[in-house]
Amino acid sequence: MGKIKSILSITTFLLIGSSTILGQQEDPAVTRFREYLRINSAHPIPDYDSCIAWLRNQALEIGLSFNVEYYDPPEHSFSVWMTWNGTNPQLKSILIDSHMDVVAVDESQWDHAPFEAFKDAEGNIFARGAVDMKSTTVAVLESVRRLKASGFNPLRTIHIMILPDEELYSRGVKGFVNSTTFTAMNIGFALDEAVSNPADEDNLLVTYTEKSVWQFNYTVYGTSMHASTLPEITAGQKLQVVIDRLLEFRASQLDLLQQPGVTLQNLTTLNLVQVGGGLGNNIIPPELWVSFDMRIVIKPGWNFSDIENMLDNIAAESGNDTVITYLVKTMDYGLTPTDNSNIWWVTLENTCAQLNVNCTPNIPNGVTDGRYIRNMGIPVFGLNTFTRTPSMAHQTNERINENVLLTGITRFTRFIQNFAMVSEILHP
Ligand SMILES: [Zn+2]
Repeated sequence: MGKIKSILSITTFLLIGSSTILGQQEDPAVTRFREYLRINSAHPIPDYDSCIAWLRNQALEIGLSFNVEYYDPPEHSFSVWMTWNGTNPQLKSILIDSHMDVVAVDESQWDHAPFEAFKDAEGNIFARGAVDMKSTTVAVLESVRRLKASGFNPLRTIHIMILPDEELYSRGVKGFVNSTTFTAMNIGFALDEAVSNPADEDNLLVTYTEKSVWQFNYTVYGTSMHASTLPEITAGQKLQVVIDRLLEFRASQLDLLQQPGVTLQNLTTLNLVQVGGGLGNNIIPPELWVSFDMRIVIKPGWNFSDIENMLDNIAAESGNDTVITYLVKTMDYGLTPTDNSNIWWVTLENTCAQLNVNCTPNIPNGVTDGRYIRNMGIPVFGLNTFTRTPSMAHQTNERINENVLLTGITRFTRFIQNFAMVSEILHP
């Protein structure tokens, strides 16, 4: 099924070609976007060399300096950036971050081959990475291309960074924030990825904080005995206490979700993800474990120790030998203010007004590289200029419409222009 569809779409692609559709000339920005989409940068073996080569060529065409720096391990942790020098070197720079990797794909489920960048008659472009997030990278590059061509000179230096491995342990950004390059860039403000607004309205969802991810195991112990006996306390009962208490917490969040105005972004999610242990089907187990994934909402005044205490109390209630092991425990990603105290928010709101769109502070369900930059004390907004388009990140038939892309480029151009002209010295 998948194969037949692929052959059909390749044929259609050859007929339509890359430059025309329904007799109309394709916008060169769309053509470049489709070129970038055709590079298979999907895990587990992303073609980073081709991404770097393509990006280097873009920098050359646009007229930006181009740099690659390798960290450890170099095949997964490096940074690629282009720089546009500002006219006032006293001002801190602006970093616009995105990532070049895309998530793995099951080709058999797609209507069009996921690295063909097929465009249908309505202008929908199908490809892994069309939404997450090659469209934003291209919007940034095309914006700078336009601004340069128009003769615009930024006050602030702009660094356009494209990192690897965002989808896998954020290995690129971890190397970058710990590098001397990061310090030397003297970054005053950063933009990173955000979700597009699926609603049929022009409202940009601006990420100002992210949930903290905690993934942890509870291991409970008991005496291993023949399964025909009836001991008073077993590992199974201890596990039951752990699961019951955590699922009660989950139910409390689910209850809140029923209240008007409450969405998933306001809530801490918790899910049981794995269970294991035991020796056989006729032995009472000496050890069992269960693991959970928890995404904690950060709120002003919120204290992570509240959650920590809750988890410790559950362990103590289940048994004095129960052990909690944290696999992932991210803390304190901070908040970038979304009020008049923050010139970057004020600039963002003013730009939205100029563009005739609304902007709403948003906490995304997933996490991005932006949190590592925010954690370095830098104000960071996740910005996505695409509206009237479903957020199809990581989904089958991921796609974006070419008109949505072009509108998004026009908007991004204005954002870059306005952010680059913020003249206040904010960090003396
Ligand atoms: Zn992404």
